[in-house]
Amino acid sequence: MYCPTCQNQNNKNALFCKSCGTKLYHPQQEKKSRNSVSDKLLIIFCFVFFLLLCIWLKIFIFELQKFYKIVNLLTESRYNYGFY
Ligand SMILES: [Zn+2]
Repeated sequence: MYCPTCQNQNNKNALFCKSCGTKLYHPQQEKKSRNSVSDKLLIIFCFVFFLLLCIWLKIFIFELQKFYKIVNLLTESRYNYGFY
């Protein structure tokens, strides 16, 4: 692997140049690490999204039940006191 700054030849897996200390670029390694990180992030994101969906559904169903109870109460009261 040739250093982009000083053209000194280094080991294939060297992270820094032996001669000048410049960080050597490994496109394949970086791609791999980036992919694994993005995959982990995607899994975490999906998990969080799923959790949020569950919580949201629970809240939604709970609110819906409350709403129906209120509607029932209103309709009942209207039925009871509707005929003035
Ligand atoms: Zn160098």
